[in-house]
Amino acid sequence: MEPAVSPAFEWRQVPAGRVVVAVPLVPLAAHFFSTRDVSHQTRDPDYRSVAASFGVPPRHVVDVRQVHGRDVLVLQPGGESPAAPVEADAIVSLDPDRVATIRVADCIPILLADRRRRAVAAVHAGWRGTAAGVVEATVAVLEQHGVRPADLVAAIGPGIGACCYEVDRPVLDTFLRRDAAADAWFVPAQTGGRWRLDLTRANRDQLVRCGVPAGSIHEIGSCTRDRPDLWHSFRRERDAAGRMVAAIRLRASGLVDR
Ligand SMILES: [Zn+2]
Repeated sequence: MEPAVSPAFEWRQVPAGRVVVAVPLVPLAAHFFSTRDVSHQTRDPDYRSVAASFGVPPRHVVDVRQVHGRDVLVLQPGGESPAAPVEADAIVSLDPDRVATIRVADCIPILLADRRRRAVAAVHAGWRGTAAGVVEATVAVLEQHGVRPADLVAAIGPGIGACCYEVDRPVLDTFLRRDAAADAWFVPAQTGGRWRLDLTRANRDQLVRCGVPAGSIHEIGSCTRDRPDLWHSFRRERDAAGRMVAAIRLRASGLVDR
């Protein structure tokens, strides 16, 4: 089966297996969205393969303990990586030596890079994080470090599509409590009292609202639940689901081909 991703994305083969890169991000920052070739169920080998893909030592691959919130970890140049992952759902990196990573299986992975190369970011946005505005919080932290939203290029990677994501009233209400405009992201489902939620669109709209140009936001256009050949999906695989890694480094020099 031919892997279906939008024309702004390309397949690569690296030590972490098949990965997808966003072509507009390539000149700004080495990065990828992994496929299910990375499982993350066995962390060390997976992170060694992620490190090898960037040509860095494993201790330079930074992850966080994801809690579906809006806290952002900032990596300063020359800083030490935390001994144990800290609680956060996004990483802003000002450090060209380290690789910022988040893990997903249906949640939306978002990678951001600054055209003026001051910083990059990796964001984990499930429904709770999206409702909390995690991508908006990330852009705010980038701004605190001198990045203009107008200079950001964003890649929205593989997550669950509105085709496969039915939610109930409490989810809709959680969004509406924070954001009256959120109903644009929900479409009534066939089943009464349920809605289909478009998390990619929600995150795109939030980025635009922060000042990221719509033309600088690129979507992979592949639903994790629909493609068991490519992606892990928590909704499909439940407790057996692995996690994919989205990774980015503040240095354009490329990935290691395998
Ligand atoms: Zn789907």
